Amino acid sequence: MELKNKSLFKQECFIGGKWVKSLNNDTIQVDNPATLKSIGNVPKCGKAETKNAIEAANDAFLNWKNKTAKERSIILKQWQDLIIKNVDDLAHIMTVEQGKPLAESKGEILMGASYIEFYAEEVKRVYGDIIPDPLPDRRIVVIKQPVGVVGAITPWNFPSTMITRKCAPALGVGCPVVIKPASQTPFSALALAVLAEEAGFPPGVFNVLTGSASEIGKELTENPIVKKISFTGSTEVGKILLKQSASTVKKVSMELGGHAPFIVFEDADIDEAVSGAIMSKFRNSGQTCICANRLFVHEKVYEEFLEKFVKKVAEIKVGNGLEESTNSGPLIDQYSLEKVKDHVQDAVKTGAKIAIGGDIHKLGGNFYQPTVLSNVTNKAKITYEETFGPVAPIYKFSSDTEVINLANDTPYGLASYFYARDIGKIWKVAEALEYGIVSVNTGLPTKAEIPFGGVKESGLGREGSRYGLDDYLEIKYISMAGI
Ligand code: ADP
Repeated sequence: MELKNKSLFKQECFIGGKWVKSLNNDTIQVDNPATLKSIGNVPKCGKAETKNAIEAANDAFLNWKNKTAKERSIILKQWQDLIIKNVDDLAHIMTVEQGKPLAESKGEILMGASYIEFYAEEVKRVYGDIIPDPLPDRRIVVIKQPVGVVGAITPWNFPSTMITRKCAPALGVGCPVVIKPASQTPFSALALAVLAEEAGFPPGVFNVLTGSASEIGKELTENPIVKKISFTGSTEVGKILLKQSASTVKKVSMELGGHAPFIVFEDADIDEAVSGAIMSKFRNSGQTCICANRLFVHEKVYEEFLEKFVKKVAEIKVGNGLEESTNSGPLIDQYSLEKVKDHVQDAVKTGAKIAIGGDIHKLGGNFYQPTVLSNVTNKAKITYEETFGPVAPIYKFSSDTEVINLANDTPYGLASYFYARDIGKIWKVAEALEYGIVSVNTGLPTKAEIPFGGVKESGLGREGSRYGLDDYLEIKYISMAGI
């Protein structure tokens, strides 16, 4: 790795303020998804190391929670400053292990830092309440306190932001964290730990451990010391973690899968809708949980949208994310590539037409062509399952009611998008869509200031914004009598 600050590349875990190997020295190899070559190894930790990390976090809890919000805020701010100072190296590490183009990696690092900035400010405003009591000599007092040790399990598609989005509010209100990053992208997480140590978090407050997902996940969910699990990943794994967390009645935040509809109404600005769709669909090679997965276009503007959209897709330059000209990287692994291939082949078998792409890319490896499918039918798997790849299936619709029903016909409810100009229609559709996020006339709704999260099987809880603090706080009622 060509880094200015070589100390950012760590092949050890950070537990209780120390850099450690796994107890039996086992490791996991991490590969670059663009070249398929090994980047390095990280410890393969399991139950015992997870228990150690949880205990270290618990030992640090009292001291950390008793600091003032301002003291914690200062350390968060230092962490943010260090991340921004090291943005080029952090982006390089991310592109090498995750595959996204450097510009996207830089964008993610800065977005991740913006969560820390936001919560460094917001944690100073964790207010309580004093409620009038029906009895004259009493007052009802409500205070908010940190839940305790937090276990955070994060995915590979946003290796940095998914960590800061959970940790900034948790740390800010006084919770120590034990983080388990995805095994595909552990180096971004470990680099954040290097900077967290430098920023001055006391030992045990910030822990990162890599290794067996199921073993670490089981200990995090079943250990009674952990009071809260925050997970971002698939609905399938989310359900396992929910079941396991039931044994100790833990609080949970779940950011799970999505199957976002992207609707283009007949009065939409078509050029705007096309660039929004490109942004929403092809960012991170289609590997985001809020990617547009089903594009519904009104019959009156269908041909125009399709033609303009395909023209833009043809301009996408696929390649190694380290190359300046690349604006779409590889898929994360062969498993993902197989799923994309299967979804496209199945859609074609059930009546869809390939408007562009439709096959593996000539670069080979984990690369797939940016693909647009027209005339997709409701028999295709892609209509019901999340693809997590650079494939845009397009459907034609003719009425508002029809498209709202189609959009809501899924167990998922994370993000939705639509383009329209009529204000009455905008309100009606925004209220009718069963989604945690409704994005009107933009393909990129995410930022630190918004409550990100889903309904239905897309999850529980919200991240970002002032609402994101609630996920790491307990409400305590103090009954004051004898006044
Ligand atoms: P994706 O489909 O995006 O890879 P996953 O849900 O499989 O999403 O992975 C998200 C995170 O969950 C990763 O850190 C992964 O290692 C972890 N994970 C996978 N399986 C389990 C499990 N059984 N228990 C706990 N964590 C898991």
